[in-house]
Amino acid sequence: MESKFSVSRKGILFVISGPSGVGKGTLTEMIVEQNHLQYSISATTRPPRVGEVQGKDYFFLERSDFEAMMAGDEFLEWAEVYGNYYGTPRRFVLDNLERGQDVLLEIDIQGAMQVKAKFPEGAFIFIAPPSEAELAQRLEKRGKDSSETIANRLLCYDKEMAQMANYDYVVVNDELESTMAQLIAIITAERCRVVRFIGGG
Ligand code: 5GP
Repeated sequence: MESKFSVSRKGILFVISGPSGVGKGTLTEMIVEQNHLQYSISATTRPPRVGEVQGKDYFFLERSDFEAMMAGDEFLEWAEVYGNYYGTPRRFVLDNLERGQDVLLEIDIQGAMQVKAKFPEGAFIFIAPPSEAELAQRLEKRGKDSSETIANRLLCYDKEMAQMANYDYVVVNDELESTMAQLIAIITAERCRVVRFIGGG
């Protein structure tokens, strides 16, 4: 008789969120490289920033194309963030999980909660800045956004931080090396959870 115990497991869905400017982009890039994770490229109606590449950073779409994908139920989740649509193409994520490949989503809180409803067994990680002042400073230093956009993003700060309660883990992005060490510890522990190996996970 074949044993029901197996040392192979299904892919894990890792979801990372946090306030804009907290450093998610850099962290995500490093984690994906070092931890054999498949990054899910989102679709967005936001115009590309300088240096961003179509199909690598995002699938940059016209609003009408995004809406056609919504109508076709092609998103695992989607949300309107700061006036633009953002969404996770469904097929790519499901195919990877099915073949045992862990996937990483870097999405906003509204999207993360939609994913949690569908994949409660996912690992939900909230990246927090050391303080609001530090976050404001990082947004200004990054120089990617207008002062109006920055002010708008800071207005959401309290509301966003309160959402931390809906995540499994919080990591304060204080210093890159220790933040990375914490993220790697979370990923490693999640991969070793018994539930991943005996069904359900
Ligand atoms: P940015 O425009 O700075 O690249 O991203 C703005 C916000 O949109 C960030 O909080 C980012 O996590 C979020 N975001 C990026 N892709 C997606 C997605 O596919 N779905 C959702 N819900 N949010 C996303």
